[in-house]
Amino acid sequence: MDDIYKYLLVAFEEAELAKQEGTFPIGAVLVDNTTGLIIARERNRVFSSCDTTGHAEVNLLRAASDRLIDLSTKQFINNDYTIYSTCEPCPMCTCTILLSGIKKVVWAANDNTFGAARKFKEGPHFSEYFDTISYLATPYPELELKQRSMIADFYTSRGYVDTEWHKELS
Ligand SMILES: [Zn+2]
Repeated sequence: MDDIYKYLLVAFEEAELAKQEGTFPIGAVLVDNTTGLIIARERNRVFSSCDTTGHAEVNLLRAASDRLIDLSTKQFINNDYTIYSTCEPCPMCTCTILLSGIKKVVWAANDNTFGAARKFKEGPHFSEYFDTISYLATPYPELELKQRSMIADFYTSRGYVDTEWHKELS
């Protein structure tokens, strides 16, 4: 098993916890590329913590902020970290990633409704900033299908049976 797959599976462990907690089944991990160590792991908490901003990537970056900010100098720390998420980041998460100085993002499934990472990359807004971030989208078809099924099931449980997540499964 390669490292990318391994880290995505850890993100899916978080997504499973989110599912059990009754919120969007999305997870994310932050990995130090130099050491290979996982710095933080988090998950969606929108419905489990009643927090509209409780997305996996935002929670992840909050959890890791002491590794991203040097309070003594009031500087952002140059890092070589990668976010591995089960789902393409939304507008809020995409911009939080940019503002946190993360340069690499991998995700298992594209989000054709609220996914923003690819759209910001295409421009026209902030493209000079997003050019500094590299993406790896949907490297494994089976993990993309797994995330699509999990999110479709969550929408079904809330009474939505005809979302983009459902369509793309058929
Ligand atoms: Zn988000």
